[in-house]
Amino acid sequence: MNKFMRRPQKRLSFVLVLTAFLLLACSESASEYRQSLFIFGTVVDLKLRGVSNERAEEAVLTVDKAFQRMHKDWHAWKPGELSALNHGFVSGQPRPVTPFLLPLMTQSQVLFKQSEGLFNPAIGKLIALWGFHSDDRPSGPPPASEAIAELVNQAPGMDDLEIVGNQVRSRNPAVDLDFGGFAKGYALNIAIDLLREQGVDNAIVNAGGDLCVSGTHSGRPWRVGVRHPQGAGIMASIEALDGECVLTSGNYERYREHDGVRYPHIIDPRDGLPVRHIASATVIDEDGGRADAAATALTVAGPNAWFRIAKQMQLRYVMLVDEEGAVYMNPAMAKRIEFQGGEPEQLVISDPL
Ligand code: AMP
Ligand code: MG
Repeated sequence: MNKFMRRPQKRLSFVLVLTAFLLLACSESASEYRQSLFIFGTVVDLKLRGVSNERAEEAVLTVDKAFQRMHKDWHAWKPGELSALNHGFVSGQPRPVTPFLLPLMTQSQVLFKQSEGLFNPAIGKLIALWGFHSDDRPSGPPPASEAIAELVNQAPGMDDLEIVGNQVRSRNPAVDLDFGGFAKGYALNIAIDLLREQGVDNAIVNAGGDLCVSGTHSGRPWRVGVRHPQGAGIMASIEALDGECVLTSGNYERYREHDGVRYPHIIDPRDGLPVRHIASATVIDEDGGRADAAATALTVAGPNAWFRIAKQMQLRYVMLVDEEGAVYMNPAMAKRIEFQGGEPEQLVISDPL
């Protein structure tokens, strides 16, 4: 074989190698690994793209391990670090808190202040009084108004917590922490971070419509649904960008029912009563914990006060839906949302942010 014949062969093998490499890269990016996990009483669906099944499996195991610990140590009433701490608050003595739990408290203190106390994870006793510290749906008549008033008058708030280093004490014995309005968003963010640490840069972690994403879906943004306030299906879709979370709070999610009246699980800390006026609030933010807390706070704030709270919480994308189906949002959110079946009849776009 002379040297003139060798060149095309070399080129051919180079082309073959390149083709194989491209095919592999394409199949890698097209592959999607799916897995479901369980946390905070909810199924969490994970989709991981662009990595081998082995890597995806390993990464999901790490997330699952973190979720199990969160479920135990952030639980408001089952045995774990948080419930032990809650019992200890009565004494007023400082107690050490692990770095796993502490950030929930420090971050919630800020969010409590920004929301003028409408997001208030210190009202665990009120939430329990309404029957929501149970895995089952509560039933029977609402609690006595005297019992509600007594807890409201004790005014537990996140500003009652004194945090020095890792030592935490409560100046108010009525403080009982329940991170049900914050932990899911915070956990979803952590899941995305854990996946990234393991080389998974394109993923969605979706807890029943509350979600965070990283990267893209084959080069396009992840398209996600926003739950319908009446609980059935989705009302709109959003393209979630790398690092964003979409969190929705809704009165429809959990409630107590008696004599045909529903008492939803989101409590207004000012009067201790379940919020009635708003059906749901949706927030897009890169900080999942803040988005979650904000969605809860805005549900409490309602159509008349949401602008102020949204501004103070430094939110960029907000939508509220009331019981009549009227939709309120800021213009930046309006640009990103696509309604299923056309725009709602009552759409109020205002720019408080
Ligand atoms: P979310 O679905 O994020 O709005 O969270 C609702 C959960 O947050 C409830 O089940 C309670 O555990 C807790 N919660 C209820 N009302 C409040 C409130 N005003 N501030 C903070 N957490 C609350
Ligand atoms: Mg929330």
